[in-house]
Amino acid sequence: MLKPKGFTSRVIHTPFAKDDVNRALHQPIYSNAAFDFESAENMELAFQGRLPVHAYSRITNPTVENFELRIKQMTDALNVTALSSGMAAISNVIFLLASSGTNIVVSNHLFGNTYVFFNSTIRDFGIEARFCDLTDSEAVRKNIDGKTVAVFAESITNPQLEVVDLALLAGIAHEKNVPFIVDSTLTPPNVFRAKDFGVNIDVISSTKCISGGATSIGGLIVDYGTFDWSKSTKLAPLAKRFGPFAFNYKLRREIFRNLGACLSPFAAYLQSLGLETLQLRFEKAVENCRELAPFLKTLPQVKSVHYPGLKDSKYYEISKKQFGNYPGAMLTFDFTSKEECFAFVNKLELIKRATNVYDNKTLVIHPASTIYCDFSPADRESMHVYDTTLRLSLGIEYAEDLKDDILQALEGLGHGA
Ligand SMILES: *Cc1c(COP(=O)(O)O)cnc(C)c1O
Repeated sequence: MLKPKGFTSRVIHTPFAKDDVNRALHQPIYSNAAFDFESAENMELAFQGRLPVHAYSRITNPTVENFELRIKQMTDALNVTALSSGMAAISNVIFLLASSGTNIVVSNHLFGNTYVFFNSTIRDFGIEARFCDLTDSEAVRKNIDGKTVAVFAESITNPQLEVVDLALLAGIAHEKNVPFIVDSTLTPPNVFRAKDFGVNIDVISSTKCISGGATSIGGLIVDYGTFDWSKSTKLAPLAKRFGPFAFNYKLRREIFRNLGACLSPFAAYLQSLGLETLQLRFEKAVENCRELAPFLKTLPQVKSVHYPGLKDSKYYEISKKQFGNYPGAMLTFDFTSKEECFAFVNKLELIKRATNVYDNKTLVIHPASTIYCDFSPADRESMHVYDTTLRLSLGIEYAEDLKDDILQALEGLGHGA
């Protein structure tokens, strides 16, 4: 059988785990909780994990499994687990690896909920998040000790748009026998091959571009099978029995089941459809971002524009190395005050005021007053989240329409016009 090489071909032609009795070309939505067994013996084998059948949809479900298989195809992962949200993916991984008294080395440039998860939620369970500058290798090295269970990074941070050298960080983590976990939501698998940069576990919010245009909430844990779990105190006993499958065994037979954050079959169906057009949509959104960034720079009211795809960005080279010609579809830009940001946002007609990213529609938000509103001004300052900054997530519209909307919103806005 011909094995397709192209990203989209592989996604679209991922075989079902089992042939469909009606030869349907889409995996049907199995919207049921439980499955019938042929015999008590089969039931016993299934519960022991020795018979690959479905028992209960919180544990596995055919529609969800098909979505996982497609992700596995496109990432060359060893195991993939789909969950109810990106936050569920992150919390499952951290609760799997950490226990009280251990620590995680991470930057304070993080997606807002992830930051609070690290800074507060896990602290209540005796797990320490060691915030440090991940662009400073020495700082990372110094923070890792015998109790470190993970180094965690985002492929492009939001809203700072910082890009760290992932292969370098992976090298440091591995030198210290620690797994490297990356949230690659902003650089989907068609542009970023996490496995090639030493990432051991990849977490993705499939709510974003995978869902096909903000159709549903979902998350993914992508396990590349590249970490030697005998080096993890917690997983070493399982590593003896299961080798590279130790992480997945602990996840599927304990953590994921017990935390219960499974993806619904209907969301899995929508996200499988979304995957089929991921490459087409994402390439278009990035093209729009590449076009809008220099355009915004020409506008006198705009004080600065940040995008790793701009040649004057300090992350241009490392972005190119890691994400090729597709350094994300999100940019930030600054006015001189919060009032100016608000006036501009209020005048937009086509661009939507929304907190999501990577929808098919272009979205704008003022991060300081929204996502980061619970933080003190001093904390925001330390996280490099400023009152003068707007974030723009590019959709797949015709770029000239977006420019027209921006130009009309700028009319009559303060000075410089
Ligand atoms: C949206 C997002 C998350 C959280 O995902 P949900 O699906 O909303 O739970 C985590 N990390 C990044 C980078 C995100 O953009």
